[in-house]
Amino acid sequence: MSKPIASLSLDFDNKWAYLRAAGREDWQDASSYLQLAADRIVDVLGEKNLPLTAFIVGRDLQSDADCDAILSLRRLPICEYANHSLNHLPWMHTMDDDEIHDEVAQTHDAIEQVTGQRCVGFRGPGFSCPDEVLRVLSRLDYVYDASIFPTSMAPIARAVFLMRTKLQGEQRERAKKLYGGFAAMRNPNRPYRREIDNAALWELPVTVMPLTRTPIHFSYFTFLAGFSTATAKSYFRTALRLCTLTGTSPSILLHPPDFLGREDDADMAYFPGMKMPRDKKISLVKWALGQLAQRFDVHCMIDQVAALDPNSIKRSQLTTVTSPMHAALTT
Ligand SMILES: [Zn+2]
Repeated sequence: MSKPIASLSLDFDNKWAYLRAAGREDWQDASSYLQLAADRIVDVLGEKNLPLTAFIVGRDLQSDADCDAILSLRRLPICEYANHSLNHLPWMHTMDDDEIHDEVAQTHDAIEQVTGQRCVGFRGPGFSCPDEVLRVLSRLDYVYDASIFPTSMAPIARAVFLMRTKLQGEQRERAKKLYGGFAAMRNPNRPYRREIDNAALWELPVTVMPLTRTPIHFSYFTFLAGFSTATAKSYFRTALRLCTLTGTSPSILLHPPDFLGREDDADMAYFPGMKMPRDKKISLVKWALGQLAQRFDVHCMIDQVAALDPNSIKRSQLTTVTSPMHAALTT
């Protein structure tokens, strides 16, 4: 029997984005860890022959070294580039229409220029996706949005964020709307069609634990493992089992700190899970990816859509991402 479909994605957030979110005034001077992270990601995922959708922040495409890091993800068997906004501001729901257009469209163009690949997927920073984002995506002929995080813990995550960050003034006010409220939990926890005006896009939510709606992305998993490895592993196994039982096609999310240990970056020490030694973290991540690959047929996100509903994708939307699924659909 064939395995159910899952997808694997990475928000390729650079250190400056984490430091800015923490309210550090020197965030613009932060060194970049993208190449270090890309090398680890390629090693770990490559070993298991796993594909990846990498959500890229436009601002990082202004640096040659970061462009090289982004391009080096191509050493993976399949790498789909997707759009993660220009400035990684987690409050797109407070922006006006022009600003939203620039955040999406400028990154779209820059990714095409650097990688030669036309994006068809978007994820808003801070899981924020107002209707205007969808309108822009639809105008740019995108296939999917991946900004929904249907967790029961949104209000708790926001409270923790506000407690830890040094953000002040207007930015702090904007941050008070982060992650949505308990309403976030009412969103589906599986891929679904989302209508905007007369168009429709696929929505691929960041999968949470079916039933309890607690997070299962890797940063949360390694954070739990900081308290108890056995508990974290049993939690992740339960999540995958429940996805299978409930017919949920999971979309699993990675971040660069999932591949970095405490030896790698002192600036990131405040971040949950960054007190763990590198070897321990890498072996946990390899274990979890192994579990995922054992139970699911893992794809990049556009291929997850193609597998769920091949008719919803136009040939022109598949021309620049090279993968076996695309080859089958376009020939
Ligand atoms: Zn991000």
